[in-house]
Amino acid sequence: KELVFSGVQPTGNLHLGNYLGAIKRFVAMQAQYECLYCVVDLHAITVWQDPAELTRQIREVTAAFLAAGIDPARSVVFNQSQVPQHAELAWIFNCVARLGWLNRMTQFKEKAGKDRENASVGLYDYPVLMAADILAYRATHVPVGEDQKQHLELTRDIAQKFNNDFAGAIAAQGHGEAFFPITEPLIGGPAARVMSLRDGTKKMSKSDPSDYSRINLTDDSDAIAQKVRKAKTDAEPLPSEIAGLEKRPEADNLVGIFAALNDATREDVLRDYGGAQFSAFKGALVDLAVAKLGPIGAEMQRLVADPGHIDSVLADGAARAEAIAAPNIAAVKDIVGFVRRR
Ligand code: ATP
Ligand code: MG
Repeated sequence: KELVFSGVQPTGNLHLGNYLGAIKRFVAMQAQYECLYCVVDLHAITVWQDPAELTRQIREVTAAFLAAGIDPARSVVFNQSQVPQHAELAWIFNCVARLGWLNRMTQFKEKAGKDRENASVGLYDYPVLMAADILAYRATHVPVGEDQKQHLELTRDIAQKFNNDFAGAIAAQGHGEAFFPITEPLIGGPAARVMSLRDGTKKMSKSDPSDYSRINLTDDSDAIAQKVRKAKTDAEPLPSEIAGLEKRPEADNLVGIFAALNDATREDVLRDYGGAQFSAFKGALVDLAVAKLGPIGAEMQRLVADPGHIDSVLADGAARAEAIAAPNIAAVKDIVGFVRRR
């Protein structure tokens, strides 16, 4: 059975990269798949979060999901910490994953920085929890941005090793040849990797100290206009052919953003704007971004004003998520050989 899982961290500053690389695609997948969309609060605390701010951010990401068009009656919308099976399966996967696998993860190296001895154990272990998030539901497809590719490969390795290590018990207990699916990452579209507006070689990120590096989903039209106008570019006009975007990371980024916002391709955008100066193209990009993001930001504000409603959506989603995960984790315990209350 095909099932989609994906998550977003409640760590502040939801930005255009999160929207175009993830949330907008979550909305589209609902037509085709059964979907679970998770606010991954256990992941958030891998770096320090102020408690009151964390609570606020969990509700804000939930509001972004709903405002963007995720339908909580159709898809399962919940926060991770309300479903204990994520952390439970993560422990078992900690004993499947190898140190050498985690040592290769580039996101840990980037996020831990120079002071690695002082990073939390959770930050190091983050990709194992992510594997548990996905495989607790035996999800077959995971829409994510390009930056999560390596973590998805680790998820596949963990599933494969579990299936191999426990092949005898898996078969004996009637699950056939494999218990976990080898999950497919769905990475793609013109905005799989949205870059910083200040530096076309760095990904747009929540944690960038410069607010001018990103467009936040909650930015008003003035802020969007200012940030786009100040976005770094080179001096040449836009090329007419896609090949002309090579070695022009800032131009490539703005064209990709325009394409994704407009449900078009880079080629389409260059057909319309090839030869144009950046001043003209940026004006069109501001109008497009304001038209697409404005209503989402306004709806988010309306939703966060009623935390009781958001919390009830999350509670309902958590119950539905647990109903899927609990039998899977019970089966995993039997496969591993634990004695279980029945
Ligand atoms: P952090 O810096 O705290 O890790 P983040 O911006 O990477 O924040 P996440 O919550 O880790 O946000 O990621 C949520 C989703 O957004 C993931 O699917 C991720 O791949 C996607 N994503 C994040 N940044 C970008 C980006 N710049 N372009 C496209 N997709 C992105
Ligand atoms: Mg991230």
